[in-house]
Amino acid sequence: MTDDVYSHDMTSTPMDPTVASARDGKLKVAMIGLCGCWGCTLSFLDMDERILPLLTKITIHRSSLTDVKRITERCAIGFIEGGVANEDNVDVLRHFRDNCDVLISVGACAIWGGVPAMRNVFDVGDCLTEAYVNSPTAVPGALPVVPMHPDIPRLTAKVYPCHEVVHMDHFIPGCPPDAEAILTVLDDLINGRPVALPRNLNHYD
Ligand code: SF4
Repeated sequence: MTDDVYSHDMTSTPMDPTVASARDGKLKVAMIGLCGCWGCTLSFLDMDERILPLLTKITIHRSSLTDVKRITERCAIGFIEGGVANEDNVDVLRHFRDNCDVLISVGACAIWGGVPAMRNVFDVGDCLTEAYVNSPTAVPGALPVVPMHPDIPRLTAKVYPCHEVVHMDHFIPGCPPDAEAILTVLDDLINGRPVALPRNLNHYD
């Protein structure tokens, strides 16, 4: 990866004072999805009511469910789902690195690229041609067009694991990881213990 400097809009929105005081002293947690299938996000939801006791110690500043990709307050912990497949993913991941004390790769896509990295054995131009020009769903007789627009992030030449773009502090493997694994890592961090995933939760399927 090149090490270009990306500019970030760090404008923050003033917070309601009541909300601010309720959050006082709590660790802020943020999570975001890059190039993945959102399956790891479902594992977060699978923590169900087990996350409730932790809410006395944490507040969720950003969640993949809202998909807001900018952090407006420094966060203690950032969870990243998905690998890096386009320029927007690079920008978002660097922004999270800049604004989170501890950054965690969640799932196979974040850790090694996962299914999207299957395109790494092909030229990205060939992938686009196959998807938009040779596709069986291409409209017969229509001019084949690969979509291009300033608002569509350009694909990176390869799909990268997060740690090849920025430093990642911890890794939770699995496709998706067990909710219990995410909960264990979160609980360790909140309570100041070294992160120690038990062997039965440290799986790669
Ligand atoms: S690791 Fe698996 S579940 Fe998670 S985003 Fe990738 S494909 Fe989806």
